[in-house]
Amino acid sequence: VDMIEVKEVTKRYGATTAVDRLTFTVRPGRVTGFLGPNGSGKSTTLRMVLGLHTPTAGSVTVDGRPFTDRPRGLRHVGALLDAGDVHGGRTARAHLAVLARSNRIPLARVDEVLEEVGLAGAARRRVGGYSLGMRQRLGIAGALLGDPPVLLFDEPLNGLDPEGVKWVRGLFRRLAEEGRTVFVSSHLMSEMEHTADDLVVIGRGTLVAAESLAEFAARG
Ligand code: ADP
Ligand code: ADP
Repeated sequence: VDMIEVKEVTKRYGATTAVDRLTFTVRPGRVTGFLGPNGSGKSTTLRMVLGLHTPTAGSVTVDGRPFTDRPRGLRHVGALLDAGDVHGGRTARAHLAVLARSNRIPLARVDEVLEEVGLAGAARRRVGGYSLGMRQRLGIAGALLGDPPVLLFDEPLNGLDPEGVKWVRGLFRRLAEEGRTVFVSSHLMSEMEHTADDLVVIGRGTLVAAESLAEFAARG
């Protein structure tokens, strides 16, 4: 099944060790929070799960398979990586249409996900005029586009208003209940409290804890 397994993974950028012998698993059917301060290696790890970065050492597998030996694209793993990183001159609809086309996803799905994230009314506006919260919603729409079994979200709550936060938590819950693997990063424990079932906690690229939220909270 669509489990993410990170085993003894190290990632170096020149002299910087971003991730240091990190080991954890992320199970399907749960919302797993990935908690750590800024610069602790969360984005680097998510990028290795996606196959955008190669580990310096160790292995990252999804469904037991390394990036080199598994199906690619948005139908398999969907991700919100950096909500700010969208071509501002395009409309939301055009942005998603490009993603759909390159992933052989029917264009009808574009309007479906725009509706789902609450952007149907803004779909024909240029993304350059979007607030950060709207960009987050668009990034989430991109992750949902291919209806993938594995979803990664890097700091998805950033810039969302309280209503948006409530909505996204409900969305993650539903995705987990559908049996998907949902892995969500944040640098704030307060964001994870009403979001995650399990927590993977890192600091300076190394594992601090991997347990259920209840266990983590009980230890203080
Ligand atoms: P987080 O997502 O937890 O904020 P990152 O994975 O972005 O952490 O960064 C972990 C460390 O790796 C930081 O010290 C960061 O400066 C460094 N780093 C991240 N990406 C690169 C890169 N492409 N080149 C060099 N250093 C990087
Ligand atoms: P290209 O599309 O030219 O191959 P990219 O840098 O856009 O290059 O993507 C590299 C790989 O990462 C591709 O396999 C792509 O499907 C995947 N990828 C890129 N962005 C995402 C995303 N948001 N969610 C899931 N996979 C992605």
